[in-house]
Amino acid sequence: MSQKTFPRLEDEQLRKLIHEISQFGLSNGLLMYPPAPYKEYQPVLAPVTIFPTPFPKAKYEKSLEIQTVYNKLYANVVAEHKWLTSIIKQLSIHDKSFTGRLWDCYLKAQENGIVQNVSLALTRSDYMYDELADEIKQVEFNTVSVSFGGLSPKVGKVHQYLNKTGIYSKESSGTYYETDDLPISESDVGLARGLYSGVEYYNKQYLSGKNESIVLMVVQENERNAFDQRAIEHHLLNKYEVICKRVELGKVMSSVKVDKNKGNKLFYEGYEVSVVYYRSAYGPDEFEDAATWDCRTCLESSLAIKCPSLLTQLSGSKKIQQLLTDKTTLQSFISESEVSQIYPTFCKIYPMDNSEEGQIARRLAFENPGNFVLKPQREGGGNNIYMEDIPSFLNSIDESEWEAYILMELIHPKTHKNTILRNGELLSGGIVSELGIFGSYLFNEQNGEIVDNQTIGHLLRSKSSSSNEGGVAAGFGCVDNMYLY
Ligand code: ADP
Ligand code: MG
Repeated sequence: MSQKTFPRLEDEQLRKLIHEISQFGLSNGLLMYPPAPYKEYQPVLAPVTIFPTPFPKAKYEKSLEIQTVYNKLYANVVAEHKWLTSIIKQLSIHDKSFTGRLWDCYLKAQENGIVQNVSLALTRSDYMYDELADEIKQVEFNTVSVSFGGLSPKVGKVHQYLNKTGIYSKESSGTYYETDDLPISESDVGLARGLYSGVEYYNKQYLSGKNESIVLMVVQENERNAFDQRAIEHHLLNKYEVICKRVELGKVMSSVKVDKNKGNKLFYEGYEVSVVYYRSAYGPDEFEDAATWDCRTCLESSLAIKCPSLLTQLSGSKKIQQLLTDKTTLQSFISESEVSQIYPTFCKIYPMDNSEEGQIARRLAFENPGNFVLKPQREGGGNNIYMEDIPSFLNSIDESEWEAYILMELIHPKTHKNTILRNGELLSGGIVSELGIFGSYLFNEQNGEIVDNQTIGHLLRSKSSSSNEGGVAAGFGCVDNMYLY
């Protein structure tokens, strides 16, 4: 089918549209807190696009299809302990401040004894659609604290609402898009369902099937994206009768009890915790206080199922993503047919070490930086070095540290002329979009057995095409939804 252009609206219609988006969004919880100072009673409408952004339907469907393959791949990576830990150990030498500290936590937890082999991952595989290659290309695979699954359905509903109430059409009547072409993500319910797979497993194993345990969400102080998290919490309670309690990472030690007499069961305010769900602990800033590392170690040694465990979190390192782009390595984790499903979604990614490939990368980084992004082992946005900035950055650090980075070819997404609504202002101009597919898997880290593996919804984030980064909370981007063509 041919692709529709964006609706063209007169100024008066545009004003009405902003009014409708604002009030529909505010009444449905499409909210974030603005940057500091944090005032609990003053959230704002999350930044959104005013129209859905075109995305090829076949590629969207493909991204959904391959999510369980990606989930399986990363589960198998963790089950291959020796391989994973040898890489992480090496990486921790060069990236002391984060990978190194997570690795330390893991070693300490091992010393204390890791009693729970089953772990849960709520993941998000991010892609951009590269029009030249006519393929979705993976930006990264996230295994910790994936966000916007709670807000994504709400943007879809805003766009659906505007479409159904005739606001997108010139005559102010009739729908502009086919309803089916604006898919609404089910990631809010899906993430709750993923968490429940862990709760249910725990209840069966340790509580004779009684639904009497809770999820403990470990959060950051003054979380700006709290409403994204709350949506998941509410679905957990409404759909699965499971309570979710929130605790800040730094306050874990003073508020939980690991009962040695009960096989290291974890208790919070008297509730037995079946799943520890991290919406924190993914950046070095959070661990400035050494006590926070003890919190992470303490939880790791408890009987509760961790979402994610330290090893599952570490499997999402950019270094692992780079190593998996080697076909022989990939083939050792998944079947030939699974390889053929996901291999085309890989970009070329180079190591920056002393290997032959690493030498090529070191040369390319200086001779042809315009084609690349240099990435450290970090999450959460704002850490990458782009194009012409790469040579001077590399020169500014010790060469022995280069190994902690990967060099990735740039993806070239199509620019669309959508408009972003942020803080009541319209930002017009080109935007580019990143599609995220959420997944969930529950598995045994020792033997690799996968108990549950699901695809649980989507997210489209867009950013101004002139910006390198796309973080919504970081102020670079916005939440979007697609119009499938
Ligand atoms: P983080 O873990 O900080 O989210 P990402 O790998 O997702 O790091 O990179 C952050 C952003 O940088 C992405 O959301 C995307 O906008 C941009 N980006 C990353 N890799 C590429 C790439 N290969 N080509 C184009 N843009 C990229
Ligand atoms: Mg990212």
